[in-house]
Amino acid sequence: MNIAVSACLLGEPCRYDGASKPHEGVLALRSHHTLVPICPEVAGGLPIPHPPCEIVVGSEPLHVVDANGIDRTAAFLEGARKTLETVQATNCRTAILKAKSPSCGTGRVYDGTFTGTLVDGFGVAARLLQENGIRVLDENQVDSL
Ligand code: SF4
Repeated sequence: MNIAVSACLLGEPCRYDGASKPHEGVLALRSHHTLVPICPEVAGGLPIPHPPCEIVVGSEPLHVVDANGIDRTAAFLEGARKTLETVQATNCRTAILKAKSPSCGTGRVYDGTFTGTLVDGFGVAARLLQENGIRVLDENQVDSL
């Protein structure tokens, strides 16, 4: 089947710091599935590298800031929207997304204080995919496929 995957898990150096996070278990899925790389932050127009960003948890409406305090909400929303378009256009019903990311995190994200504090929540793109019926997992849940 077609599975959308955070591009950094496939070894693409698209993280905010210019690094990648290749994951053996995710890469192994290539033998039986078609993996569709996605990176919401690149899709949203953020350059690589860029300062780390966090969702300011508890704020309504959604508010995403970078470590310099600059509002990056629009880029995250645009990246999520484009990612959903890609996922739907490629008929992916499942997405494997990088844990804890403000775009891709599923279930736990940093709280917006840049102190390394994790709280319950979803990244902006992960939430939009889930709201549109896509099954979202992180790289630690590959075995449940
Ligand atoms: Fe990886 Fe998602 Fe961050 Fe892109 S936005 S680098 S795919 S965690």
